[in-house]
Amino acid sequence: MHEWSLAEAVISTVIEASKGEGLEEITKIKVKIGELQQVDTEIFKFALDEIAKDQGTSLLRTMKIEIRTEKAIFRCRVCKNEWTFDDLFDIDEDKLEAIHFAPEVAHVYVRCPLCKSPDFEVVQGRGVLIDSIKGIGTGKETKGR
Ligand SMILES: [Zn+2]
Repeated sequence: MHEWSLAEAVISTVIEASKGEGLEEITKIKVKIGELQQVDTEIFKFALDEIAKDQGTSLLRTMKIEIRTEKAIFRCRVCKNEWTFDDLFDIDEDKLEAIHFAPEVAHVYVRCPLCKSPDFEVVQGRGVLIDSIKGIGTGKETKGR
């Protein structure tokens, strides 16, 4: 159900943004999902398509949806080192699963690979972002945010 409420939020943001840009038809949107965000991409895509259809507006009639996963990036507050999950060789699969399931758990298991500090922040890889909105406006092709 979580996917559906996220999808709803994305569609209403897209509609709002397209009004601001004066778009008459949205041809494509790109959505990024953070690696730490628990989202089933298949369900999310389906939900986006269904909700877009339900709007019954010509604005979304031809809209294509592209979904990409954004890698999680961590930054150490002590030595400023940045790393991704791929750099954490000493973490076993079970722990990785747990982290993907609940990002808060990351602070229990993840340490800076350089200085071993547990004091780090998540720079990227959380939440759902609308990367870009493309559409046809008043006679011109516009590229949104
Ligand atoms: Zn460090």
